Amino acid sequence: MKDTVKPEKIRCDACPVMCFIADGKSGACDRYANHGGELIRLDPLTIIEGTDQKLVPFMKDGTSDDWDGDIVKGDRPFVTAVGAGTTYPDYKPAPFIVSQEIEGVDMVTIVTEGIFSYCGAKVKIDTDRHIGHERDIVRVDGEPIGHVMTSEYGSKMLSLGGVEHLTGGSKKEGRVTCDALLRLCNREAVEVSIGEDDHVTTVVIQAGQAPIINGVPEKLMRVGCGSATIGMFAKQWLTHADEVVIVDDHITGVLSEHEAGKQLDIPPTGVKMLGRRSTPGRYFQVAQPGTGWGGTDIVDPLTILGPFNPKIAWEGLRLLMVSTTGEQFAYYELDADLVPQPTQMPDALVASTQVIAENCEPSICSVLFMGGAGGSLRAGVTENPVRLTRSVKDALTHVSCGGADSYVWPGGGITVMVDVLDMPSGSFGYVPTPALVAPIEFSLRVSDYRTLGGHVDQIRPVDATQSQELRRVRQNAQGHDPMSRANYRWSKDPDQP
Ligand code: SF4
Repeated sequence: MKDTVKPEKIRCDACPVMCFIADGKSGACDRYANHGGELIRLDPLTIIEGTDQKLVPFMKDGTSDDWDGDIVKGDRPFVTAVGAGTTYPDYKPAPFIVSQEIEGVDMVTIVTEGIFSYCGAKVKIDTDRHIGHERDIVRVDGEPIGHVMTSEYGSKMLSLGGVEHLTGGSKKEGRVTCDALLRLCNREAVEVSIGEDDHVTTVVIQAGQAPIINGVPEKLMRVGCGSATIGMFAKQWLTHADEVVIVDDHITGVLSEHEAGKQLDIPPTGVKMLGRRSTPGRYFQVAQPGTGWGGTDIVDPLTILGPFNPKIAWEGLRLLMVSTTGEQFAYYELDADLVPQPTQMPDALVASTQVIAENCEPSICSVLFMGGAGGSLRAGVTENPVRLTRSVKDALTHVSCGGADSYVWPGGGITVMVDVLDMPSGSFGYVPTPALVAPIEFSLRVSDYRTLGGHVDQIRPVDATQSQELRRVRQNAQGHDPMSRANYRWSKDPDQP
């Protein structure tokens, strides 16, 4: 007789969505599945294994058994939260609370994949090119996912995600924002558009890769502003040029007026700069921001010059104009009417533009995940969540994300920031609430864990994790060791072991 009994769905209780999952299917986030009636986490738990690097004896003669505490011991595993799973509601103990002895100290690591509603990405894009004004909206698929922040030296900054976009707007805005964050944090490329109709710029962002701005891959980050470039390279132009103008959207530099030029006895040239004079040899706002010379909208550099002063300038005056990356340059000599005429550039000046370019670093995108763990996930660590916050502030508990070092912001809560390139690949997931799922580990001494009211009855030895499917990854290039004594305040106490 045919069996008509439908296999029962099981309920996933790892997040507030509470999916009912049929046998052989996965839940809405593709992280959990029903395998024969058993709820399983689809990705394996990720463990960072020690490096192959040779351990260096602390004593120079190599006879001591003491080892430099900063070096990760070769076979010491670190259980990351990648693939660990989530517990919900939060009062349940975290999925993994594992202990191991590290150099005579009983340590414990509490591991969970946190569901972050308050989270986003801070993106640094190394470019001079204008990609948008401060506060311009950043969009994906027409949905706002963030905005342009204050520029940093040689870089444009974006703030993406956050609870305002994840849950504070329309359903589509939340979904698109969550998807863009997920892809960015998992090191995938995301194309964004910045600004409004009359000034839209498209940028392809991918962690560790050059940005692609309006379809053109960026190559170099500027060596400095125009003034700094004069300061760095002024000596190279001596005897080869009478005047040098470094075109830059921030500060355009003029050699003969600049302090560097004065100290090298470069005489006035009668050059007339357009724009607002700041201090000698330094000019603001010589042009509009853009994707031309030095992050301005300049295509022809002569447009930022007024007529040369006939009382000072002379026929044959040699003028070099160059951008802050050395990628754009032009050489002129004044004719009898003191008008700059394009002229073949001497080899020495060609070489100097190459030195500027050589001193520029490659342009890349950096993506830092930022999230607040100050909320309820702390309850998976301790019954007294505020004690965990205090323990982190007191440097008794070390916070890592996928084993990578994280920056914990001062002030209240546990607000962390981490470079996604330091984390194992595929570290991030999502739930459709929508929120991002990110790994977070809290490491501390077992004795401190007991003091802060931790779930000590749930501690199991690290070896117990070996019975399940594991993904083993090597330590990242950063070489951060969450268990290093140097991370903990007690290591400075001479009475401690
Ligand atoms: S979205 Fe994922 S974690 Fe949430 S209940 Fe569904 S399967 Fe479980």
